[in-house]
Amino acid sequence: MLTIGNYVKAKTLEEAYELNQARSSRVMGGMMWMRLGNAKVKTVIDLSGLGLDQIEESDNVIKIGAMCTLRQLEQCEALRELYGDGIAESVRHIVGVQFRNQATVGGSIYGRFGFSDVLTAFLALDTFVELYDGGTIRLSEFVKRKPDKDILLSVIVRKSRRKFRYESIRQTKTDFPVIACSVVTGMVHGKETWYFSVGARPMKAELLEKQWEIPDNASEEVIADYARQAAAEFTYGTNMRGSAGYRQHLAEVLIRREMASILAEGR
Ligand SMILES: Cc1cc2nc3c(=O)[nH]c(=O)nc-3n(C[C@H](O)[C@H](O)[C@H](O)COP(=O)(O)OP(=O)(O)OC[C@H]3O[C@@H](n4cnc5c(N)ncnc54)[C@H](O)[C@@H]3O)c2cc1C
Repeated sequence: MLTIGNYVKAKTLEEAYELNQARSSRVMGGMMWMRLGNAKVKTVIDLSGLGLDQIEESDNVIKIGAMCTLRQLEQCEALRELYGDGIAESVRHIVGVQFRNQATVGGSIYGRFGFSDVLTAFLALDTFVELYDGGTIRLSEFVKRKPDKDILLSVIVRKSRRKFRYESIRQTKTDFPVIACSVVTGMVHGKETWYFSVGARPMKAELLEKQWEIPDNASEEVIADYARQAAAEFTYGTNMRGSAGYRQHLAEVLIRREMASILAEGR
């Protein structure tokens, strides 16, 4: 059971950060995950009064406040315009609408959960996280860090003309994914670059980058071969949802489908 001594609705970010430095303090997002835990929390810090619940679009970036809900992501027109249905697809299977109306982007990314669809999706894009103390760093770097006492303020996606696809496999609807894959491609420094992010392996998502020039009319065999190569570069584990071999096979299939879908649309 989770027990909480004090609840503080922070008035400033500075206050939230200072309070969070105590070992037994915790920042709260939507509390959907935290409330299932067994911790004794002395002070829980609510960020909901700090204006972090907006998705802001500028010429170069889309900035998603940490207190935005997964439902806001799902319904965000700016993300849909840039990356099609991919972002909505990445959260669509997470429990249900009422749940997604409460779970936050900050809690999802900060948690760095192995099963995270949200992390898998954003990792393949040109994404940064803004931290109160740690500044703005690449999500790929943040993922590798151990959780500390910093506060995640926003997730920032740099706008680009990249193509994005997301797919996951679940044994039953609303369960955690057995595997989650996103594929992104675009021109980076004049070179065609492919990004692959595979999560729920069951370890947390990792990113693979390849400079592959693949023609739009590549045959199914050629695409399958690239997908096999990409999937083979990740490591996989076994748990109650599937074996390592099964996960690698699924990753290969999903990556192949996503690559084929991007190539069929043309770049
Ligand atoms: C039953 C269930 C099923 C789920 N299924 C899926 C799934 O299939 N796919 C998927 O991707 N996710 C899934 N999730 C995870 C969910 O989507 C959220 O990622 C999770 O609930 C955390 O978000 P939250 O807002 O509830 O965070 P909380 O539970 O409030 O917090 C989680 C952690 O993050 C910290 N935290 C929160 N916000 C911040 C911040 N701004 N800065 C620093 N630290 C912060 C908290 O202190 C805590 O340690 C599931 C969760 C549950 C409970």
